[in-house]
Amino acid sequence: NKKVVLRRHVTGFPTVEDMEIVADTVELRVPAGLTAVLIKNLYLSCDPWMRERMTRHDDADALLASDFVVGEALINFGVGKVIDSTHPKFKAGDLVWGMSTWEEYTLITQPESLMKINHPELPLSYYTGVLDDPMLVNYHPGMTGLTAYAAFMEVGRPKSGDFVFVSAASGAVGQIVGQLAKIAGCYVVGSAGSDEKVNLLKTKLGFDDAFNYKSETDIAAALKRRFPDGIDIYLDSVGGETLDAALLRMRRGGKVVVCGMISQYNLQEPYGVRNLYLIVPNAINVYGFNVTGYFQMYAKVEEEMAGYIKEGKVVVVEDVKEGIESAPAALVGLFAGRNVGKQLVVIARE
Ligand code: NDP
Repeated sequence: NKKVVLRRHVTGFPTVEDMEIVADTVELRVPAGLTAVLIKNLYLSCDPWMRERMTRHDDADALLASDFVVGEALINFGVGKVIDSTHPKFKAGDLVWGMSTWEEYTLITQPESLMKINHPELPLSYYTGVLDDPMLVNYHPGMTGLTAYAAFMEVGRPKSGDFVFVSAASGAVGQIVGQLAKIAGCYVVGSAGSDEKVNLLKTKLGFDDAFNYKSETDIAAALKRRFPDGIDIYLDSVGGETLDAALLRMRRGGKVVVCGMISQYNLQEPYGVRNLYLIVPNAINVYGFNVTGYFQMYAKVEEEMAGYIKEGKVVVVEDVKEGIESAPAALVGLFAGRNVGKQLVVIARE
């Protein structure tokens, strides 16, 4: 049983050396007397929220999910196949998804947190992203389909004709937000960190316009050109300078849904946002978003998203890496923008 364990707690940018691949031997059945499910992990999800758990936090720090333990496998969402079960809801061969560990086999001792795959006709990997859900787990989750839907549709509450800006737009959350914005009849512009991603946004993901914030470094000017009349909804995944620039362009009564601040996760000194004062004269509504508050919507969102995918109204761009050995680099790559689309790792296909 190969696994990815945390080698040391992280400060600053994570590196592949912060993790290591180790192997142990596991019995491929649930130990006697235990109500549990043993799964073979098929697809692992890589999510930015995992970074927070790689740091060792003091008691004095903000209320966050528990830290990963040095020497133990990382934890995140995944898709797996049941190998053995002593829980009445699951049997060998079932395909499931839920919170798992970064190893080939995981003994799930809280099987209530596992979900069956309701749409096996769609690619299984979609359950690491567009179709997944936080479930009843006490973790800050990294799942992205529900995040995109709830942050944009429930909090952003778009109206037809709204001007929408999405950052990290080609990523797991951003690509779905952009497509939901088009379905809602909005004008949508995305920012991303390479010309390849910008091209993807415009040609495959249906964005009206997009720009590369690494080459158009004056983000305020880039937004002014694309939103001469201002922005109604900004779906923020990055924070920092992009948030600062977007605040300058927000229309009176506009909404900033702060879903993530990935530009800040690895900094010792956070960027000081200067344009917050505009919240008052322009009556800008700023919402902090956490998907854990929306899991009750999951069944509805899963059906709606599955429908859009089947109708071709939503396409899913994934960045698939092969083999558990590739998982550390895939995770680290999120913070350099190396992923093109939802990042996941295939451990096994069946
Ligand atoms: P993505 O698939 O978008 O991958 C991360 C992307 O972030 C990278 O590809 C890169 O794209 C961009 N990025 C990395 N570093 C920077 C930087 N310094 N400045 C600007 N952009 C950067 O990830 P997800 O879609 O899974 O997550 C997007 C955001 O949503 C994250 O902030 C995440 O924490 C948050 N999130 C929040 C949830 C919640 O409940 N609030 C739930 C799930 C996710 P590029 O090449 O364009 O720079």
